[in-house]
Amino acid sequence: MRLLLRKARILDPSQGLDLEGDILIEGGRIAALDREIPPPEGCEVLEARGLWALPGLIDMHVHLREPGEEWKEDIESGTTAAVAGGFTAVACMPNTRPPNDSPEVTRYILSRAREVGRARVWPVACISKGQAGQELAPFGELQEAGAVALSDDGRPVADSGLMRLALEYAASFELPVISHAEDPGLSAGGQVNEGPVAARLGLKGIPAEAEAVAVFREVRLAALTGTPVHIAHVSTALSVEILRRAKEEGLPVTAETAPHYFTLTEEAVLDYNTHAKVNPPLRTETDREAVRQALAEGVIDAVATDHAPHSPLEKEVEFPAAAFGLIGLETAVPLTLNLVREGLISPLRLAELLSTAPARILKISGGTLKPGSPADVTLVDPELTWVVTEEALHSKSKNSPFLGWEMRGRAVLTLVGGEVRWRLR
Ligand SMILES: [Zn+2]
Repeated sequence: MRLLLRKARILDPSQGLDLEGDILIEGGRIAALDREIPPPEGCEVLEARGLWALPGLIDMHVHLREPGEEWKEDIESGTTAAVAGGFTAVACMPNTRPPNDSPEVTRYILSRAREVGRARVWPVACISKGQAGQELAPFGELQEAGAVALSDDGRPVADSGLMRLALEYAASFELPVISHAEDPGLSAGGQVNEGPVAARLGLKGIPAEAEAVAVFREVRLAALTGTPVHIAHVSTALSVEILRRAKEEGLPVTAETAPHYFTLTEEAVLDYNTHAKVNPPLRTETDREAVRQALAEGVIDAVATDHAPHSPLEKEVEFPAAAFGLIGLETAVPLTLNLVREGLISPLRLAELLSTAPARILKISGGTLKPGSPADVTLVDPELTWVVTEEALHSKSKNSPFLGWEMRGRAVLTLVGGEVRWRLR
């Protein structure tokens, strides 16, 4: 199939490109990219004036829930939500049932992803067996089966000695390590951010220090071992300051945050809305502002959704009993576009945060529109307005704190390897 995207605003950080032009796709690859490409014979032409053409978006932090919790999400519904949200690839966290700590689970995920044929799926395998924090998972076998990174996400690696060992061992496989940075002693029993809101609701709080202490530990372990560490879902101003210092020191540390941390504050839980119960918790306005600045300045490298589907069984219960987590694949694009509209980041930086940086951190293909690379392309209409409703979402679960919000901006076409995997209407 040949396809010509005509007169799109092409945004490709990997080539420093922000220009109006044409993209020719042929044989599943980007064949050419230029200000004007005459349509070859028999080529489908798509007028893309007013649309942004981005290297396929990559969500480096999702929970697809398969195997084991398919009532919340499965690989088919999760990757359908991904392409509908503009993501051509996702990295899925290992806290499934069983956890992805064996080559069998890794291979199962990859084969299901191939069968359903939506977004690319890059499995993240466990750091510790059973995510129990006792002994390391078999990194080499997991990598051979197709795992691209390691994390115990969902829970922290509490033992600093084990984390050090994990970094040293991961280095020999060049596997990126992703840290769910949380000091479990400080967060234990917590429901929401510690402070006046928690007090008002009569709920136990999770202090910002529960994250910051763990971020500092990872930074020092990166220094000690010389091995890169990636910090997941940064939510506090304290963590941002630690990361800023680490980067000034030249340490191999990268970080992501999620749209809910730069959009919402702890006030979203004031009405006991369990859809806003998430770990780490939504924080204060000061934290939100620090995270936004960090995205603009490069202290935080990437935007990931931490898409965490839960059914009404886990969410329509009293607040303390509700599960942590919210879905994000289908709202990330408009929420990140808000940062552009507010003058905080450029459109090119948006493409960096949502595509090029995740590819670089995970050392996976993608994040580029260079001729010759697989045609993973996301076309975004930055002006299209729509309302987040349960019906509009493709995820099996509807636990979004943004239900009822009017969004501006949406993926209208998602190409994976040159194939149309999502087209709006
Ligand atoms: Zn996590």
